[in-house]
Amino acid sequence: MRGISLSVISVQHGATVREVVVNPALELVPVCWHNLPPFFDDQTIIPEIGDEWVLVFKKPGTEVMQTITASGHELLALKIVSEGTGDREAASLGGVTVGVIDDILAAAVQRGLLLAPGSLLVRPDSFPRGKIVDPHSFSAPIFTLQWHVTQVCDLHCRHCYDRSDSKDMELSQGIRVLDDLYDFCRTHHVFTQVTFTGGNPLLYPHFNTLYQEAADRGFMTAILGNSMPHKRIEEILALQKPEFYQVSLEGLRVQNDSIRGVGHFDRTLDFLDLLRELGIYSMVMLTLTRANMDEVLELAELLRNRVELFTFNRLAMVGEGAALASVAPEDFPGFLREYRQAAARNFCVGLKDNLFNLLGHEQGIPYGGGCAGYGCGAGFNFVSLLPDGEVHACRKLPSLIGNMYQQHLGENYDGFLAGQYRQGSAACQGV
Ligand code: SF4
Repeated sequence: MRGISLSVISVQHGATVREVVVNPALELVPVCWHNLPPFFDDQTIIPEIGDEWVLVFKKPGTEVMQTITASGHELLALKIVSEGTGDREAASLGGVTVGVIDDILAAAVQRGLLLAPGSLLVRPDSFPRGKIVDPHSFSAPIFTLQWHVTQVCDLHCRHCYDRSDSKDMELSQGIRVLDDLYDFCRTHHVFTQVTFTGGNPLLYPHFNTLYQEAADRGFMTAILGNSMPHKRIEEILALQKPEFYQVSLEGLRVQNDSIRGVGHFDRTLDFLDLLRELGIYSMVMLTLTRANMDEVLELAELLRNRVELFTFNRLAMVGEGAALASVAPEDFPGFLREYRQAAARNFCVGLKDNLFNLLGHEQGIPYGGGCAGYGCGAGFNFVSLLPDGEVHACRKLPSLIGNMYQQHLGENYDGFLAGQYRQGSAACQGV
């Protein structure tokens, strides 16, 4: 480590880099005392004789100098980057998963020892179309694969957007998907989240293996599914704690059970209690229709202190959902206002719908996400993958952009169709 070159790349502070590099304003200094940096701050700490490495560096983007004792992980991160060892090679040499290596590198970036390029997932020039926007919203630090690993489901909801039969994917196909996803996110300099869904994803026969493989690659994992037994959730927790576990409710008991089946409402409340007991971040999603809009706020009250986040999606008039009635456009602004007032009083109520930007517009506050704000994430910072390999910009409507079993994710992402979705609706151009 003594030989780390400080001229790995000629970057001045504040400049951008094209690959992960060692902070050029960093010196690695061998010393023959333990506890030297803490002693500089607190002279009551007594240094002791012994070999140690000290890092002296300027925090990127600041004039602040720092002096710290180098940890084993920090030395490893510097060694990997300065020697140009690939993540997979480093993982193989160390007998650990690539996720462990990536975590070590990410911590060194966070500390300012390494410099990393910014996300390459950046909005096209056509945004923001003259709107008041948050400029930080134009690039995405995380790419999410919403992965429908199976069509098999224990429910049969009346608004389900896809109850078509589809052969389950082979485990080997799933592993190739994860490798492809890893490469895509590395080359685009973004973190990766895999949101497993279905059907009921936990009914996929190889779910645990696939979930573990995702965790081993350092991916954040999440689940959109149904209530499952305590033992099954503990199995998942033993592999990796999900970022969140989302279930659905469609209104109060009678309304919900008319959509999702008798007994579903009570089972789901019990399951939310279980998630809370296990310390898993829980989310409830409601599909908003004309029939349930009057129950939304009462349901939100019922979920207060029971769930971390409650949000709604407007009904997608596709699949079996086409038979239900969506909220009348003239009723929607009033509903949004009441809902937002409720959100101010109830912390679990989330403002996900992109049409909240309409209220923001009235008050001159910056837009949030979605089509009516700085742009929808479909085909931009997330895509949906179906069990047959089809990639869709968004799962709520048929929006095919390619097939991951036939092309790499990057080819699907860079294709003409995905580009069209990223452009957004032509009707909004220039608005
Ligand atoms: S909406 Fe979801 S839970 Fe309901 S039947 Fe369809 S896949 Fe299953």
